[in-house]
Amino acid sequence: MRTLLADHPLVTHKLTLLRDARTDTATFRTLADELVTLLAYEATREIRIAPAEVTTPVGVAVGARLVTPKPLIVPVLRAGIGMLGGMTRLLPMASVGFVGMVRDEESLVASTYADRLPSRLDGREVFVLDPMLATGGTLVTVITMLRERGAAAVTAICLLAAPEGLARVDQVFPGDYVRVVTGAVDDRLNDKGYIVPGLGDAGDRLFGEI
Ligand code: URA
Repeated sequence: MRTLLADHPLVTHKLTLLRDARTDTATFRTLADELVTLLAYEATREIRIAPAEVTTPVGVAVGARLVTPKPLIVPVLRAGIGMLGGMTRLLPMASVGFVGMVRDEESLVASTYADRLPSRLDGREVFVLDPMLATGGTLVTVITMLRERGAAAVTAICLLAAPEGLARVDQVFPGDYVRVVTGAVDDRLNDKGYIVPGLGDAGDRLFGEI
């Protein structure tokens, strides 16, 4: 697994506001949206393109276009939904699939409750949106589903990551198949599986407690 720490000053600035316990839900949602767009810029650095000519009012320019099949974006429900707008802003042509995962608060084991992914993903690049890479259990499950369906490469975009989660994903997916793009790598997980210092429960902070 490769890790890209997007330590751009604007990323750090927005992340600091997100972490602040006083930031309200509406502001949190806006900041998360902006932050994802910044991370998406880094995450798409290796997206596949092919040379393409275009006629300008003055001449012919050689540029590039995204190749087909077009990428797939997979927000992990529920909190990943708060990252979708920020991602599709940069990749409006991508399709969107959904995976729903819920974590048992005792065992910290994640189980799948929704799978709305294409049955085959041969040759497609996939961008997984999950704000918190904590134990890594959710990400390992989702990436395994994507690889079994033939995805060409997977990039996970996470607002924050814990060293434990990064190590787990790397253990299961050594090599270049998976890339994690994150705004920060925090200290550790606490005994409830929360990232410390983190930002709390990302789903609750985006959408309120339910
Ligand atoms: N999920 C969250 O929302 N926050 C954490 O700190 C860990 C997992």
